[in-house]
Amino acid sequence: MKKFLHAILYAALGFALPACMPVPQQTETEGDTPVVVADFPQSEIELPALDDPRTLLPSPSIDTIFSPHKAITTDFSARERAHIAVQDAQRFANGNTEIIDLTLIQPEDYAFPLPGGKVISPYGGRRRYHSGTDIKTRANDTIVAAFDGIVRMARPYSAYGNVIVIRHYNGLETVYSHNSKNLVKPGDRVEAGTAIALTGRTGRATTEHLHFEVRFNGAHFNPNYVFRFKSHKLQHNYLICKKHRDGSVTVSPVKKQDAFLVEDVTSPKE
Ligand SMILES: [Zn+2]
Repeated sequence: MKKFLHAILYAALGFALPACMPVPQQTETEGDTPVVVADFPQSEIELPALDDPRTLLPSPSIDTIFSPHKAITTDFSARERAHIAVQDAQRFANGNTEIIDLTLIQPEDYAFPLPGGKVISPYGGRRRYHSGTDIKTRANDTIVAAFDGIVRMARPYSAYGNVIVIRHYNGLETVYSHNSKNLVKPGDRVEAGTAIALTGRTGRATTEHLHFEVRFNGAHFNPNYVFRFKSHKLQHNYLICKKHRDGSVTVSPVKKQDAFLVEDVTSPKE
């Protein structure tokens, strides 16, 4: 499956990789042993025509900017286990832009975090600083992991009450808050759909519900860029994650049909 995804990704980005470029291999660390998690099926890639001006783009780091599968650790620091908004040393290691392609996520690789849930309060909106989307079903209902990943934090945390934070392989993090009970602990590997907590009203909450956040490098952004909350389906977006000079991080969505815009984002600025 991962090879297949890579094939799609590189076919889509074939213009950006010079034909002579060595095959990039991604590794992730499992314990102390780096393991190859994916390699690039060279023979299946259609090479761009030589007179295509886009072949002139010097993009040696395109793979690191635009990768569906990034290295994540199971060995989180005390700070990472203790706080929701933490910066991830792996993020922006190769520049100030990373792109997450949600269209590469297969239907079996995501799950709506509270099946059957309805939105009772959106991100931002009427409540000016609302950092997530509130979703409701009933008390002690099962909350599930939205994507495959590793639990970074599971503990009571101030107004969040019992909260779970999961780090995912595409660089996103998801946050699940006000739980009556957490069912997983830091370091646990979870898959999309794994039960991780029960809905509650711990912390600052007036009714049992799930407060759901998505974050990148510690910065929260509109979960509606990722999920369609009516249909519970995934959005077909590219997420353009940018780190600015002042250190702040913004995430903006680009629709799949407008994907040519991504080229502007990844083109080097001289
Ligand atoms: Zn909320």
